[in-house]
Amino acid sequence: MAKDYYQILGVPRNATAEEIKRAYRRLARQYHPDVNPSKEAAEKFKEINEAYQVLSDPEKRSLYDTYGERWQDWQRAGAYTSNVGFDFDPFADFGIGDLFDTFFGTTRTVEERALDIEARLEIDLEEAYRGATKRIQVEREEVCLTCGGSGARPNGRVGTCPTCGGRGRVRMGFSFFSTETICPDCKGAGRKVVDPCMECGGTGLRTTLRTIEVRIPQGVDTGARLRLRGEGHSSPSGRKGNLYIYLVVRPHPIFKRQGDDLHLEVPIAFYEAGLGAEIEIPTLDGKTLKFRIPAGTQTGQTFRLAGKGMPRLQGQGYGDLYVTAKIVLPQNLGLKDRQLFLEFSKLHPENPRIELLGEVKRYDKTR
Ligand SMILES: [Zn+2]
Ligand SMILES: [Zn+2]
Repeated sequence: MAKDYYQILGVPRNATAEEIKRAYRRLARQYHPDVNPSKEAAEKFKEINEAYQVLSDPEKRSLYDTYGERWQDWQRAGAYTSNVGFDFDPFADFGIGDLFDTFFGTTRTVEERALDIEARLEIDLEEAYRGATKRIQVEREEVCLTCGGSGARPNGRVGTCPTCGGRGRVRMGFSFFSTETICPDCKGAGRKVVDPCMECGGTGLRTTLRTIEVRIPQGVDTGARLRLRGEGHSSPSGRKGNLYIYLVVRPHPIFKRQGDDLHLEVPIAFYEAGLGAEIEIPTLDGKTLKFRIPAGTQTGQTFRLAGKGMPRLQGQGYGDLYVTAKIVLPQNLGLKDRQLFLEFSKLHPENPRIELLGEVKRYDKTR
């Protein structure tokens, strides 16, 4: 049963993390069992949570985008390498008032996580093989240079916060579920700028587009996470979050990857297969590689070239390259070709399907 998580949340495939979060919040509010007690709503709510759990985690999302509904098989197979992200049970800890804050904060504090930036980066298999330096553009909040993060106009007035009356905390929620939280208006300071900085409008922050260089280590695979400490958002006080980059290695047109090993199918002329030959094949570092196939090589026969696979991300050395022979015949046979084939057929009158036919007879007898 294929589930399209994007469709469930009603967002396009290129939706940003923020768009996904917004769509999720909207739907979760609509179908939350306390709001909508019908059975269908409960089912829908479960579905929404499942979709969100995958799409809100850049790593799981990468896997889902790359492998589709089978992404969990890849996760089990080890493509999923990091322990970041958070899992939640949507039906646990369900207090209405702080419902969504419970969801979005976990082991790190909400404030810490809020400063992190998560980004996806697609690379080619060649880049994963050689290692690379890539540039990505990140839009992030940086401390406003005009006010230094205070949010106040130089020599501007600062007064008591009107939302919390200076307490720095407010009560939120309905009925007896209400909780006290940090005032969203003054962020707990209890005081508020009366004359805001002209540059940042009082937030103390400016949104800035930065180009950041990312070093891709050799041997990375889809699902790998790179952490760039301090390259996330800044808080007005100058605290900095991290930038997490989730890598997606694009499939290669000729090399298939399996962990640290590579697989390559190589066309072999029938006379090369018959006589044995030295074969030249491409590699991911741009050079070619020569090796000998023995006389009598068959289609589907696989040769292991030790140490010619992907560099190992953890540990030393390289995986192996598996070369599978695919025997090809000339497309157009001339008169001379036909004569030679005919001659060959006289040398080898044996029927290559004799075993195959024998198998069928044996089954017949047992009936
Ligand atoms: Zn400012
Ligand atoms: Zn306040």
